[in-house]
Amino acid sequence: MTHTPGNPVIGVLALQGDVREHLIALAAADAVARPVRRPEELAEVDALVIPGGESTTMSKLAVLFGMLEPLRERVRAGLPVYGTCAGMIMLADKLLDGREDQETLGGIDMIVRRNAFGRQNESFEAKVDFAGIEGGPVEGVFIRAPWVESVGAAAEVLATYDGHTVAVRQGNVLATSFHPELTGDDRVHAYFVDMVRAGL
Ligand code: GLN
Repeated sequence: MTHTPGNPVIGVLALQGDVREHLIALAAADAVARPVRRPEELAEVDALVIPGGESTTMSKLAVLFGMLEPLRERVRAGLPVYGTCAGMIMLADKLLDGREDQETLGGIDMIVRRNAFGRQNESFEAKVDFAGIEGGPVEGVFIRAPWVESVGAAAEVLATYDGHTVAVRQGNVLATSFHPELTGDDRVHAYFVDMVRAGL
């Protein structure tokens, strides 16, 4: 791979969703960020972000682009991944209120409920205390957000809001119900980049 140590190459899954915002946040957190649409592109990254968007569409496009199995394989093999909102849904081992034909990649032993915080017009922002991130709570933007109903023993809850789990980490895999990429506060991305660096 042609990059300097310390600057990991992090892909953003670019099938659908707020790809640009993640590319900007990752670059601000000192990663080399690039969109990933094809298996060959996936093979070249040190880590991956799965953006917010619409998980049912993302799942469909992953099948269509021949990305579902390559993604599952790399996640199983230990690729560091961070999913926001729809991305969190993609990383759930088990999904509630998904569409019948909806596929997830899995990666975190958690049960995620899709659209749990309500509809589009019930979207909101809230301050969220995030374990392992210094400098005060992060701004959580929740847009038709999922929450985590339960996690397995290997998963660690990093943040809750209103009694619901909204950030989880299991080994190399991180997921948040909310969208740090929309706030201009890059601390969650920096946390992820540190995770990736620690594993390189
Ligand atoms: N509700 C969307 C879904 O099911 C997620 C919304 C989002 O990513 N902001 O995928």
